[in-house]
Amino acid sequence: MTTIAAISTGNAPGGIGVIRISGEDAVKIANKVFECKDKTSLTELGGYRAKFGSIVIDGKRQDDAVALVFRAPKSYTGEDVAELSVHGGMLSVQKTLEAVFAAGAVPAGAGEFTKRAFLNGKMDLTQAESVADIISAEGEEELKASFGALHGRLSRSINAVLDKLLDASATMAAWVDYPDEEIPELEESELEETLTFCKNELSALLDGYDKGQTIKSGVNTVIAGRPNVGKSSLMNMLTGTDKSIVTHIEGTTRDIVEESVRLGGIVLHLKDTAGLRESGDVVENIGIEKAYKALDGAQLVLAVFDSSAELTDEDRRLIEKCKDKLSVAVINKTDLVQSADTDIIEKAFDKTVYISAKNDEGLDALEGAVTELLGVADFDSNAPLLANLRQKQHCENALASVNEALDGVTLGVTYDAVNVMIDAAADELLSLTGKKANAEVVNNIFSKFCVGK
Ligand code: GDP
Repeated sequence: MTTIAAISTGNAPGGIGVIRISGEDAVKIANKVFECKDKTSLTELGGYRAKFGSIVIDGKRQDDAVALVFRAPKSYTGEDVAELSVHGGMLSVQKTLEAVFAAGAVPAGAGEFTKRAFLNGKMDLTQAESVADIISAEGEEELKASFGALHGRLSRSINAVLDKLLDASATMAAWVDYPDEEIPELEESELEETLTFCKNELSALLDGYDKGQTIKSGVNTVIAGRPNVGKSSLMNMLTGTDKSIVTHIEGTTRDIVEESVRLGGIVLHLKDTAGLRESGDVVENIGIEKAYKALDGAQLVLAVFDSSAELTDEDRRLIEKCKDKLSVAVINKTDLVQSADTDIIEKAFDKTVYISAKNDEGLDALEGAVTELLGVADFDSNAPLLANLRQKQHCENALASVNEALDGVTLGVTYDAVNVMIDAAADELLSLTGKKANAEVVNNIFSKFCVGK
């Protein structure tokens, strides 16, 4: 294996920049560009040790630095690793990296440190994927779930199922292959119990997937309502800025304003639409058409109504439009005297909340309604979570094979046929955790990482 190096901190000036070097010659190479203040050599250093000193390039001291040494296998990659922390100006970091290359390291590819960690058995694929997820996490729940995956929460859950399947498979194979030996036959009830356990575990993981995706990717949300009900004000309340123009002249929000906000643990990608109103104005009509389109494509609609005015035809049309959509009725302007017949709204929507955007009131209620409606109110970020489509598909295939095997047992199919199904399920789980993943899949996963990770 070559010795690789890359900048592990961000590609921007910062307080400290870290150059990570991994491979057989990592410490030797670091030692060529780093001079310990106490005149010792890094190559004599054991793992988990640090030295203060300087980066020396072409005989000249260039920067103060700290060198950290990790010894295989106790490092991130499982190889010898040296990390040089220099002052985080891009020039200093870049020049140090170039000196490290000149000393014999080669540039690390995207995700190559983590790939080596995987290949050296430091982590499985679900853990490696969680590293990328942690880096890109936007919402708090997502971060928690990814962190759990990094620490093997998902792997443990998958491996528990896998162990059961492999156990059953081994017993059955032995029994089928050596009928003359004294191998106790696997009880049908025991086999059924094992398979049912696997089925339940895999089903639970799959059930959590959609919720997890909602948490991870955020929800495309449209704020809809006729002009002047307070859509822009609601948007502002959610974003805490004045990005939407708020005015009492109808129809000022002509186009769609977009913004992502965090509500509770989840991210809403918000679109504030033009007021939904029949209009003769051409410019505004474009906005309205876009608004209806946005409504069609939305995963969640926040339908805003004005509690201080009687319901209009447009309000009723919106109620109608929301019937088969995931939507929350947001009755605004509760600080004014109520005129709207809110019963009609409450009956039509699964969730209705009362707010005063003007007074910044009702955000908690809205948060509760949205998280409940999306089914993420009881989301447990401590539960194991499938992180992506790749993992989900392996899990689905495994479940399908487990179900087949269960049916097979019930129908009295021969054990070697049932065993083929059990092996197929186990294979899927081995691919999921990477024990059996092919090189192309592995390369594809790591190519999505950034360089330096
Ligand atoms: P949009 O056309 O639906 O985007 O509505 P706006 O957000 O522009 O609000 C229309 C008018 O209603 C503005 O004058 C706001 O100040 C006012 N408004 C918005 N929310 C409230 C509220 O909660 N209470 C009161 N009293 N006025 C509000």
